Amino acid sequence: MRLCLAVFALLVAAQCHKLFIGDQVLRINAESEEHVQLLKELEGDEGWKLDFWTHPVSTNLPVDIHVPFASLHAVKSFLHFHKIPFSVMIKDLQELLDEEQEGMEVNTMQERNAKSFNFGAYHTLDTIYSWMDTLVAAHPNLVSKVQIGSSYENRPMYVLKFSTGGNKRPSIWIDAGIHSREWVSTASAVWMANKMATDYGVDPSVTSLLGQMDVYLMVVTNPDGYAYTHTSDRMWRKTRSSNPGSVCRGVDPNRNWDAGFGGPGASKNPCSDSYHGPSAHSEIEVKNVVNLVKNHGNFKAFISIHAYSQLLMYPYGYSCTSIPDQAELDTVGRSAVQALSSLYGTSYKVGSICKIIYQASGGSIDWSYNTGIKYSYAFELRDTGRYGFLLPANQIIPTASETWLGLKYIMEYVRDNSY
Ligand code: ZN
Repeated sequence: MRLCLAVFALLVAAQCHKLFIGDQVLRINAESEEHVQLLKELEGDEGWKLDFWTHPVSTNLPVDIHVPFASLHAVKSFLHFHKIPFSVMIKDLQELLDEEQEGMEVNTMQERNAKSFNFGAYHTLDTIYSWMDTLVAAHPNLVSKVQIGSSYENRPMYVLKFSTGGNKRPSIWIDAGIHSREWVSTASAVWMANKMATDYGVDPSVTSLLGQMDVYLMVVTNPDGYAYTHTSDRMWRKTRSSNPGSVCRGVDPNRNWDAGFGGPGASKNPCSDSYHGPSAHSEIEVKNVVNLVKNHGNFKAFISIHAYSQLLMYPYGYSCTSIPDQAELDTVGRSAVQALSSLYGTSYKVGSICKIIYQASGGSIDWSYNTGIKYSYAFELRDTGRYGFLLPANQIIPTASETWLGLKYIMEYVRDNSY
């Protein structure tokens, strides 16, 4: 009977969860412009079903590609043939996913027994949403849960609003998890929400900040995608909207903003992971944030949290021309990264999206900057590729703790300089 159940469980898992048995993540180090071009061709080839975790841009940055088992031999032969050096970062993706899943299951049991929430674990959307109620109940005079609309699949979209009073005070926007597979982004935001709530009245810096400004923190900006990474495909990045005329679903919600929309670094192909969508703000998840920010009208900072690569970036992504506030944003970014690194020595690069990674159009912080929110930043959290999107849960709290220091630096600066 037990064996039957086990077989049944396996079958159910196989039917519901996309499996990645034998898939590898290769790290490729292009040594010449010719190599970069060849990798770009590889990226354009749909036949091998490659999932580029980072993109070929220059010889400065390595390219991480998740290669399905069926394409491994062909891809490795291609790299050998062209003498492009590579190493295997993850030798069996499914093994890592199984470990992650097992860790979550053990944690869920422990949380149930202890009736507590473990900030050092990854959680489902439902658990995060019910944790929000616990946070609000523990800090009713500081934190509220505001629904800003619903997702494509009709899930509520919640923002945690930290406020000590006033009407539309100067505010800071922080969002996490717009790309659903970047789990550490959401997990860090959850930790930071708790940190901000518990530090109010204790840490003079947080107390002073919230005495003058409101903070809006959206921990799951792409709830449909996030739910889908738990039920069906851990590697899902986009929204879950349907694309008329295509069997492929979803839009890259960070190529969908009205900022250089449809330009370089976004795809016209609905099957691509960087599909920009039919029009700017076509995605209801993006539209809901746009509406909130516009109706509010008094945001002084807009900070978007992604993973991975350890970068702190400012606009633009859609263009490599410098923004008017480049010098100031760069200086603030460097100090923020210094604060971040002071905890564990984690090293970050600072620069504009276009110059530090690649030209990418339709991004959220380009939109926020162009609407007049000067302090627009995007974080790419840990790591630099050892685990990529599958950062082990034991790194959540260290990642969140160091990020908090960088974020706090930016928020303090904004508090002191944005009037
Ligand atoms: Zn991202």
